[in-house]
Amino acid sequence: MQRLVESAAKSFRHGVHPGEHKDATHHLPIERMPFVDELVLPLAQNIGAPSVAVVEPGQRVARGQKIARPGGFVSTALHAPVSGTIRAIELRPTANGRREPAIVIKTDPWAAGELAYDRPPDPASLAHAEFIQWVQDAGFVGLGGAAFPTHVKLSVPEGKKVRFVVANGCECEPYLTCDHRIMAERPGQVVRGLRLVMARLGVTRGYVGVESNKPDAIEALKTAAGVDAGIEVIALDVKYPQGAEKMLIDAIFRREVPSGRLPLDLEMVVQNVGTLAGLADLFDRGIPLIERVVTVTGPGIRRPANVLVPLGTPLGAVIEHCGGLLPGTRQIILGGPMMGMAQKSLDVPIVKGASGIVAFTSVSPRAGMEQPCIRCGRCLDACPMFLNPSRLAVAARNERADMLEAMHIADCFECASCSFVCPSSIPLVQLMRVGKGLVRQKNAK
Ligand code: SF4
Ligand code: SF4
Repeated sequence: MQRLVESAAKSFRHGVHPGEHKDATHHLPIERMPFVDELVLPLAQNIGAPSVAVVEPGQRVARGQKIARPGGFVSTALHAPVSGTIRAIELRPTANGRREPAIVIKTDPWAAGELAYDRPPDPASLAHAEFIQWVQDAGFVGLGGAAFPTHVKLSVPEGKKVRFVVANGCECEPYLTCDHRIMAERPGQVVRGLRLVMARLGVTRGYVGVESNKPDAIEALKTAAGVDAGIEVIALDVKYPQGAEKMLIDAIFRREVPSGRLPLDLEMVVQNVGTLAGLADLFDRGIPLIERVVTVTGPGIRRPANVLVPLGTPLGAVIEHCGGLLPGTRQIILGGPMMGMAQKSLDVPIVKGASGIVAFTSVSPRAGMEQPCIRCGRCLDACPMFLNPSRLAVAARNERADMLEAMHIADCFECASCSFVCPSSIPLVQLMRVGKGLVRQKNAK
C-alpha cells in the first residue's frame, strides 16, 4: 500500500495526560446483562431530532421490533431491546438531569433472546439510499459517546467524495475499556464493518487508529485485517482527547480539519469501532441497535466489569449486576470522567451514547476552590482546538456573545482539557458551555 501516513506522526498537537485507570477492566471479557423488569427508552438518544413513538401503551412488542421511527433525517429509529408490553410513554429522568419523553417497556417474565427483526439483504445489492435507510432504521449512532446518527455520516453530499475511512479505536477517556474489549474480542466484526463502509463509499484504503495502551487489540485487529488488504492499523501515542475525530485525523494524517469544517471536507469519514462492529452485526445477523457495551468501574464499584447492557436498563440495575456500590461512594458519572455527566438519579437509563458508569468515592478535590486566573497559559497549551479558554471564560462571564463568536467558541467540543490543567480550578468547560449558549441565544434573535 502506498504510504500516506507519516510514521513520525503518532499524535495530535496539545492535549493532556490524565491518569489512565484502565487496569481494573481492560482485561475483563464482555459479559451479558440479564433483562430487568422494566426498560426505559428516552425518545431523544441521538444528536438531532428525537425519535417518534409508533407504539401505544398496552401494546405487546417483540425484541427487535421498531417502537419509534426517526423524527427527521438527522434522527434514528428505536427498537424494543426486550419482549414485553408498553407500560407507558411518559416523562422519565434522563442523563442530562431533565425528565424527557420515554417509552417504558414492562419485560415479559419469559422474555428470551430471539429477535423479531428482518435481516437486511446483501449490502452489495442495495442502492446507496437503501443502505442508508437500513442503517437509519436500525437505529445506529456513533457509540463513542457523541451519538451522531451513523447514516448521516455515510450520506456523502453531491460533489463531495471520500478517499479514506478511519475506524476510531482510541478510547482516550480514563477508566473506559468497552471499545478496547470490542477490538480485542471482536476484531473480525470491526474489520468487517470497516470493509462494509469502505465498499459502500467506494474507498480502497481504511485506517484503524488505536492508542498504544491496547497492544492486544492492535494485534487482534492486525490479524483480522490481514496483510496488504487495504487496511492499516496504526498505534498512536496515549493522549487525551485523541478519540475526538479531528484529533484522530491530525494524529494519523498530520492534517488539520479547518474551523467549522468536517472530516468529510478532507475526504474522510470517521466511525467508532463499536459502531462498525454493530454494522457488521446488522448486515450479517440482522441485529439492530438494542444493546451496547458499558464499562462499569471506578473506586466505588464492588466488581468492575465490561457489560453488554440492553438499552433502557437503569444505571442502578447495572451497578447491582456489578455487585453494587462500595460505602463512601459520592459521585456517579455516566460516560468517562472527562466528558461524562454526573448523575443525581440511578433510575436514569443506559442510552445509545452511554459508554461507561464510573463511581468515585470522592468528588474532584479541586471542586469549589476556584482562585483567580494567574495567566499561566496552561489552558492554551492544553486546548486541542488552539482556543484561548482563559479569555473565552472572561467573555462568557461578561456575557460578550460577540467576542465569544469572534474567538471561535463554536470550535470548542467541551473536552475539558482546559479545566483539567487549570491550577486555579476555574470551571473552564462549564464556562465554555455557558458561552456557547450565549452565542446560540444571540443568533436566534
Ligand atoms: S476550550 Fe473547549 S476544546 Fe479547548 S480544551 Fe477547553 S473544552 Fe476542550
Ligand atoms: S490555566 Fe487557569 S489560571 Fe492558567 S491561564 Fe488558563 S484559566 Fe488562567
